[in-house]
Amino acid sequence: PYDVLVVGGGPAGASAAIYSSRKGIRTGMVSERLGGQVLDTLSIENFISVKGTEGPKLAAALEEHVKDYDIDIMNLQRAKGLEKKDLFELELENGAKLKSKTLIVSTGARWREIGVPGEAEFKNKGVAYCPHCDGPLFEGKDVAVIGGGNSGVEAAIDLAGIVNHVTLLEYNSELKADEVLQKRLYSLPNVTVLTNAKTSEITGDDNVNGLKYVDLESGDEKHVELAGVFVQIGLIPNTDWLGDLIDRNKIGEIITDKRAATNIPGVFAAGDCTDSAYNQIIVSMGEGATSALSAFDHLIRN
Ligand code: FAD
Repeated sequence: PYDVLVVGGGPAGASAAIYSSRKGIRTGMVSERLGGQVLDTLSIENFISVKGTEGPKLAAALEEHVKDYDIDIMNLQRAKGLEKKDLFELELENGAKLKSKTLIVSTGARWREIGVPGEAEFKNKGVAYCPHCDGPLFEGKDVAVIGGGNSGVEAAIDLAGIVNHVTLLEYNSELKADEVLQKRLYSLPNVTVLTNAKTSEITGDDNVNGLKYVDLESGDEKHVELAGVFVQIGLIPNTDWLGDLIDRNKIGEIITDKRAATNIPGVFAAGDCTDSAYNQIIVSMGEGATSALSAFDHLIRN
């Protein structure tokens, strides 16, 4: 059996695997796609100590670093179930069963997509999901934010300081964000809020040039000219495969404490699949390190 089995090969998983292996314990890593969300990112400018890089480049560096250690890498493998017997037993989609004394879950998350025409076509060509990451690409331009929950309103406030103008679209008749955020939003001179606005299409030629929405009150379809569209309708943690063993909050994030421990002794979790406050590469890597050190601590005490 493994001492530590890491499920997920994004920044959190890579960090967890390297930290585990450096303790000289038997480490395995199962991942569907080594690199994780980083592979889908264009430019990265907030990975401290690296002034600027691109997603695929950082993902390749992650892979190279992981491969420098004695880690049993099972790439392109999807975990589908977890059982606790004497040891933890991880079942893969290909039918294999892996045993381990401890487990680190780092299966990340995916942005919830809006599913309108143009979204897939213009991804990374004006359709964006991460305002912290991609906001500066739209400096001085007009953008839209889809979604009037906390993340959408925070994104709009954040972007309003960088871009020329922000149009926020909310499907319902009112915003769902916290009152203080709404107050701040409505105080900004370069933000227009559209409620009862159902986004119907993201338009463009080579890049995004606008967005169509249906005004649900009048039924009219309207077009706004834009350089970018931020979709902010939530993140979905990749935790469905876990069954009932590990406690999660109501949006499916694994509940962890400051040592990255879950409700099951010996199971730790790190990165975007957890209920930690922020989803960023550097944060995920830190949590990956915490989870590995905690797993090691657990092993030497049990
Ligand atoms: P992920 O990166 O999601 O990795 C999850 C891993 O688990 C992957 O290897 C995946 O294949 C694997 N996996 C999932 N399910 C299973 C399963 N059932 N079995 C096996 N493996 C599984 N952050 C920044 O700090 N700066 C940025 O500039 C930035 N830009 C971004 C741009 C975009 C477009 C996106 C989508 C995100 C961006 N982020 C950015 C956020 C950052 O990418 C994430 O916070 C970070 O990747 C989270 O790392 P993670 O390891 O927790 O999860």
